[in-house]
Amino acid sequence: MRGRVLLTLSTMLVAVTPAAAERILVRDQAAYRQAARTLAPGDEIVLADGEWRDFQILFEGQGTAARPIVLTAETPGNVILTGQSNLRLSGEHLVVSDLVFRDGHSPTEEVIAFRRDSRRTASRSRVTGVVIDRFNQPDRRREDRWVSLYGQDNRVDHSHFAGKGNAGVTLAVIRPEGQSQANRHRIDHNYFGPRPVLGSNGGETIRIGTSEESLSNSETIVENNYFERCDGEVEIVSVKAGGNIVRGNTFFESQGAVVLRHGNGNLVERNVFLGNGRPNTGGIRVINRDQIVRGNYLEGLAGTGFASALAVMNGVPNSAINRYHQVANARIERNSFVAPQRLTFAAGADAERSAAPVDSRFAGNLIAGEGRGDPVRIDGDIAGIAFADNVQSEVSQPRLERGVAHRPVTLARAANGLLYPTDTALAETGAPRDLRPVRREETGVSWYPKPAGDAAETPGASVEIRSGTALAAAIAQGGASFRLGAGEHRVSGPILIDRPVRIDGAGEARTRIRFDGDSLFRIEEGGRLSLSGLAIAGTGGAVIRTSARPMIANYDVTLSSVAVTDITGDVIAAGPAALADRIVIRNSRFADITGAVLAAHSETGTEGHYNAEEIEIAASDFLRVGRIADIFRGGRDESTFGPRFVLTGSTVRATGAARAPSLLLSGVQRTRIADNRFAASGPIIVTHSVGAPDTEIAGNRFTDTPLPQVTELYWQGPARAVLRDNRP
Ligand code: CA
Repeated sequence: MRGRVLLTLSTMLVAVTPAAAERILVRDQAAYRQAARTLAPGDEIVLADGEWRDFQILFEGQGTAARPIVLTAETPGNVILTGQSNLRLSGEHLVVSDLVFRDGHSPTEEVIAFRRDSRRTASRSRVTGVVIDRFNQPDRRREDRWVSLYGQDNRVDHSHFAGKGNAGVTLAVIRPEGQSQANRHRIDHNYFGPRPVLGSNGGETIRIGTSEESLSNSETIVENNYFERCDGEVEIVSVKAGGNIVRGNTFFESQGAVVLRHGNGNLVERNVFLGNGRPNTGGIRVINRDQIVRGNYLEGLAGTGFASALAVMNGVPNSAINRYHQVANARIERNSFVAPQRLTFAAGADAERSAAPVDSRFAGNLIAGEGRGDPVRIDGDIAGIAFADNVQSEVSQPRLERGVAHRPVTLARAANGLLYPTDTALAETGAPRDLRPVRREETGVSWYPKPAGDAAETPGASVEIRSGTALAAAIAQGGASFRLGAGEHRVSGPILIDRPVRIDGAGEARTRIRFDGDSLFRIEEGGRLSLSGLAIAGTGGAVIRTSARPMIANYDVTLSSVAVTDITGDVIAAGPAALADRIVIRNSRFADITGAVLAAHSETGTEGHYNAEEIEIAASDFLRVGRIADIFRGGRDESTFGPRFVLTGSTVRATGAARAPSLLLSGVQRTRIADNRFAASGPIIVTHSVGAPDTEIAGNRFTDTPLPQVTELYWQGPARAVLRDNRP
C-alpha cells in the first residue's frame, strides 16, 4: 500500500521534474528485476517483508552523492534472504540497508560483493545495517567470504556478522593483482559476533589485501567495531597493505591478534582488547616498516608467542613478498598492557627470520602485571629498539632494563571501565585516560538480537533409565541429562547426539552399556557428549563417531571414569569436515581395543585441516590397545593454535607393538607427555611440521618400550623438543 502511494506520487513528480526519483515496493524476484533494470539517481527499491528464497540480487546503477540509489527492506528485520542467495553491487553511489541473510548460503564465493564481475565494481557505495547470521556453506572446508570490498571509497557500517563456521575471511578488502590504487574503504560500527575455531587457515574476521600488492597503500579505516569471540584462527584482523588505520575497536575475548602482516605505514590506535584470561587471546603483532601502535589498552590477554599482547617480529633478510619483512621504524607508544601473559620482542627469531627490528621505539608504555612474573620475552637481538619512559610493575629479574622503570604500580578502574595507575606521576604513561571503548550495543543493528553469551549449564532434571533396552529411545526423545541405573543397557547403535548430552552411570563396575552396530554414539550438528561412571563394551567399529556429513558447529567429548573394553575399531573416530573443540579423557580405562582410543587423522591434505583442537588425557589406563591416539595435521600452515595434546599420569601396557607406535602425533603444535608409565609397548612417535612446535616429554618411565622418537619434517636442525627425566 505504502509503495503504491509513493509510486503514484513519484509518477506525478516525473511530469514536472525529469530527475524525480521513484520508491518502488517489489514483492517478488521478477518485480525486482523489472524495477532494477533502469535505476536513476534517487531511486529506491524496497523489498517487501517476508522470506526471499534463492535470490541472487544484482544491484546496479549510477547514483550521485546527493541522490544515491537505495535498496532496502520494507521493515528492518522482516526481509529475510534464505537458501542460495547473495548480493552484488555495481556502479556508484549505491546504498543497501536493512537486509538479513540467514538459513542458507551463497551459491558463489561471496555473500555480498562490491562488484558484478572482474570489470564492473562498485565505488562510493555503502552497505549498512545488514545482517549475515550463520549463512554458512554446508562443508566447513568450502571457502567463501561474507563481504568482499572491491572498488574505492565504499563503506560497510552498522552491520551484524555472526557465526561464520566455514573457511574464508568474514570481510575482505580485495586488491586484485596489478590494481594497487588506494581503496579508502571504511568499515565501522559493525558487530563481528562469535566465530568458532576453524581448524585451518582462512578464519580471519577481516583481511585487507594480499601479499602481492602489499607494498602499496589501501588507506582503509577499520574503526569502532566490536569483535566478540572472533576465534577463527591466529589472525583476527590481517593487514596486508599499507596506510590503513585500525582505531577505536573493542576486541572482546577473541583468540588471535591484529596482525600487521604485510605492508607499511599502518596505524593501530586507541583500541581496547579485553581477554579475561581466555586462552590464546592476543593483541597486536608488528611486522614491516613504519608501523605506529599507540594509545591502545590491552587487558587480561592470555596469548603467548605470535598471539602475545604485543609481538614485535623478526624479519627475513631480503624477504620474499609473502614472508616476513624486517621491522623498521616502528613506533610503539603509550599503550597499556594490563596483566598480560606475554610481550614478545624479536618474536619468531630463527635461522630464516634473522633480521632483528631496527630504528624502532618503545616508549611511554605501561606494563602492569598481577604478580605473575615477568611477561616479557626477548627471542633475539633488540638493540634496534629504543626503550624510553616505560613503566613496568616490579618483577624479580626483569628482562627489560634500559628505558623501563620498575616500580610498584597500583591500578584503579576508571569510569570508562579501564584500569589506570592511581599515581598521578604516571598520568602520561600508558593508554590515554579519554579512551571510550566502543560498546556492543553501539555496533550492528538494534532490530536483530546479538547472540546470547555461553548459557550457563542449567542442571535440569535428569532422566532416570533402568537397565535393559530403553536408553536409545530415551535419548531420542530429547533432554540433556540421563542417569543410567546399575546393570546392563543394550543398544543397537548409533544413538544420534545432536545437542549437549550428559550420561552418568552408577559407576563403571555397576553400569554397563553393550552395543552393536557401526557405533554406539554418532555426533551430529550441535552435538556434545559427556559420559561418566559407566563401562562400555561392544562389537561395533567405534564407540563414538562423528557425522557422515560435514559439521559446522564444533563438538566436544568428555569421558570421565569410563571403562571401554573389547572394541574392534576405535573408541573415538573423528571424521573429516568436523572439528572437536575439546576431547577430554580422565580416570578412564581402555582394554582390548584394536584401533585407537582417539583416531583423529581423517584430514589428510597439506592445507592444515585437522580434527581436534585440544586433547587432554589424564590418569587413565591403556591395556592391549592399538594406539592411544593418532593425530594428524598436514602441511606447514601457521594459522591455528591447535592441535594441542596432553597426556599425563597414565599407564600404558602392551599397547602398540615393537614397531607400531603406541602414540602417533604428526603436526601437533603443542604437546605435553608427562609422568606416564609405559610398559611392553610401542614407541611414542612425534613428527613436527608446523611453525615453532612446543613439545615436552618428561618424567615418563619406559619399561621394555623404545624411547620416544621426535622428528622434523621441514626444519633443518635437531628436533625441537624438551625430553627430560625419562627413564627405562
Ligand atoms: Ca591467516
